Amino acid sequence: MYDYLIVGAGLFGSVFAHEAARAGKKVLVIDKRNNIAGNVYTEKMEGINVHVYGAHIFHTNNKKVWEYLSQFTTFNRFTNSPVANYKGELYSLPFNMYTFNKMWGVVTPQEAAERIEQQRKEAGITEPKNLEEQAISLVGTDIYEKLIKGYTQKQWGRPCNELPSFIIKRLPVRLTFDNNYFNALYQGIPEGGYTKMVANMLNDSELSGSIEVRLGVDYLASADAKEELDSQAEKVVYTGAIDAYFDYKLGNLEYRSVRFETETLDTPNFQGNAAVNYTDAETPWTRIIEHKWFEFGKDENGDDLPKTVISREYSSEWKPGDEPYYPVNDEKNGALYAQYKELADAERKVIFGGRLGEYKYYDMDAVVAAALDCAANNI
Ligand code: UDP
Repeated sequence: MYDYLIVGAGLFGSVFAHEAARAGKKVLVIDKRNNIAGNVYTEKMEGINVHVYGAHIFHTNNKKVWEYLSQFTTFNRFTNSPVANYKGELYSLPFNMYTFNKMWGVVTPQEAAERIEQQRKEAGITEPKNLEEQAISLVGTDIYEKLIKGYTQKQWGRPCNELPSFIIKRLPVRLTFDNNYFNALYQGIPEGGYTKMVANMLNDSELSGSIEVRLGVDYLASADAKEELDSQAEKVVYTGAIDAYFDYKLGNLEYRSVRFETETLDTPNFQGNAAVNYTDAETPWTRIIEHKWFEFGKDENGDDLPKTVISREYSSEWKPGDEPYYPVNDEKNGALYAQYKELADAERKVIFGGRLGEYKYYDMDAVVAAALDCAANNI
């Protein structure tokens, strides 16, 4: 008999498992995949830690979370500065003085601010009601047209005037020459990959309780399988999709899915940066990730790594059988989630957590913070 059955070995499940075992509990962690670490899973190819389920750059202002994870890994000093490629024109991201200079030839912050203000006025926007209006009021029409419109429509599969404005507020706009994508005090990638960090969380020999991990186990494969697993534990922490748990009985929540085409190239340096976003509407992929540049200090002359691994990222609407990535946090889905949440609250034995369990566009640090809170309140 276990104290906790944890469904899903991603960040939420693994942090909760660690905390439970630290409190002396007996924990069983299962995952339907054959690997731990959920979507932060990294796999070594050609000596490079490849982000198999998409690029993950850890960043946070939460010192407690940073120190917590630092028990299990050393973060390198990677700083995210993606490049935007619009039909062969390259721009610095996030929107900063290098971007404004390239776009308009402006030199001072004042000139840049005036240009943005002028374009915002011409568009007649006072109170932005959707992503398109929010973007134009933040950076003006030129940047919206070249760097935001196509990329966002590809990523979300919806026109920008039908998307909520909060999505674009994730991106900083700076009147300085700072092209660090994140406004965070702490940033980095775990040395040796995320998988190792999560493995250390689950295998810590200092734990007073114990954690058993079983991979390739599908909790929702059948009602019998679920019942049998449930019967082995006092409590269940479920981190899969909330609508799947209830067999989609109120209807499907919508997700955006992502498909990756990963290839090894016989060159040490393909694009000179970890992330290049293709911001026009015609290029079918949203971005290309060159994984070796996440590992700060790798030699660009190829002395250490003569090859490189790249992933083209394609965004698509989720359909059953695909991996759900991004919850679509619009009104319609929010209302459906609220109904599922009521059902979830009535499941006395089960705690729902994480990006899929709470249907929330969570960053990694917020997931870890939520798992720590959840553990503190429940264990
Ligand atoms: N975005 C954009 N152009 C870019 C990068 C981002 O318009 O080159 C917008 C887009 O709407 C996207 C949002 O900013 O959905 C958030 O981007 P972020 O990079 O935070 O997304 P994530 O890394 O979570 O996929």
